[in-house]
Amino acid sequence: MAEPLATTRTDYQRDRDRIVHSTAFRRLVYKTQVFLNHEGDLFRTRLTHSLEVAQLGRSIARSLGLNEDLVEAIALAHDLGHTPFGHAGQDALHGQMAAFGGFEHNQQSLRVVDLLEERYPEFNGLNLTFETREGVLKHCSRHQAEILERNEPVYADGGGGIGQRFLNRTQPSLEAQLCNLADEIAYNAHDIDDGIRSGLIRMDALMGLSLFGTYADAAARAHPHLTAPTQSRRWMYETIRRMLSEQVFDVIDATRLALADAAPAHVHAVRQAPPLVQFSAAMRERSGELKKFLMAALYRHPQVVDTMAHAKQVIRDLFEAYCNQPLEMQSGFVARWAQPRPEDGVPGDEDGRLRRIVADYIAGMTDRFALREHHRLTGKTLLGSVS
Ligand code: MG
Repeated sequence: MAEPLATTRTDYQRDRDRIVHSTAFRRLVYKTQVFLNHEGDLFRTRLTHSLEVAQLGRSIARSLGLNEDLVEAIALAHDLGHTPFGHAGQDALHGQMAAFGGFEHNQQSLRVVDLLEERYPEFNGLNLTFETREGVLKHCSRHQAEILERNEPVYADGGGGIGQRFLNRTQPSLEAQLCNLADEIAYNAHDIDDGIRSGLIRMDALMGLSLFGTYADAAARAHPHLTAPTQSRRWMYETIRRMLSEQVFDVIDATRLALADAAPAHVHAVRQAPPLVQFSAAMRERSGELKKFLMAALYRHPQVVDTMAHAKQVIRDLFEAYCNQPLEMQSGFVARWAQPRPEDGVPGDEDGRLRRIVADYIAGMTDRFALREHHRLTGKTLLGSVS
């Protein structure tokens, strides 16, 4: 809905401020990135990840002359829809919702900023700008885009809502494209750090990867004392710092070339062009090699897979418990169950409606709240200790 213009900030700054003050944003501090929140205090959480994406995004945006405030707003909101326990939580919820429209964290991020935050008198959600919402919705199936488009507001330029680009196969703004890439740069780097810190991957296993090995060698040449056994952590940090800088420089250079080539006169031309914010072909390959390694060595490490299997069970148990006993949910969700709203599901489909409310409730939980609730409702302790 239209609101009066803010007097001291731009619309994107207001978006960012609303995101930072939201409940969902505060909860990111207790949500898993790769390692569960209780496994250690030093691992990334969704909050620190989002801050790192915002930092990388802003710094690239400044060099390219893009809108830094929009980049920051998108980066800080991009993971708001993540469930407890990372992708394991999403997969378990999707399993429960498969016949009822599914569950996907990107779409849930949009649901959080459009509907689930309840803090303003005149509207649900945060009433963010089209551009911030567009950036938050990174992926969307054709089917979901069609559903989304039916409920999108009518924008002044008549170009359709944020689902339209998934139907037209066009691109989002440069700022949204940048956030996708900053997300990838951030997690590749911090998952190396967390993976080594956890003991699940070793630095020497990374040496054969071009994106890591090149900079580890360069760091050792510039600072030979870093190869001493007592300096290994400092060596890793210096390597990651170089990796980050090189990727940032690469994106800036490759994007400048692509922009010079495409010469878009307006954001509409950006949307019609192929993706313009990009790595060089060589860096894309190196980043891909590192991602493959992290997938095999870290995300599919037996210890991570085992923990995530338990996490999925926690989510499935919770889902079943609330579906059987909706009154066990917090009062706001019980009220939604008692008073149907169109956004909670198709009228008359009571099973689907309850499931959507339960999915929203569980998706909003932090890791530790989910574990506490699981213990309260089932008497079981599947993961760590419940405090
Ligand atoms: Mg992310």
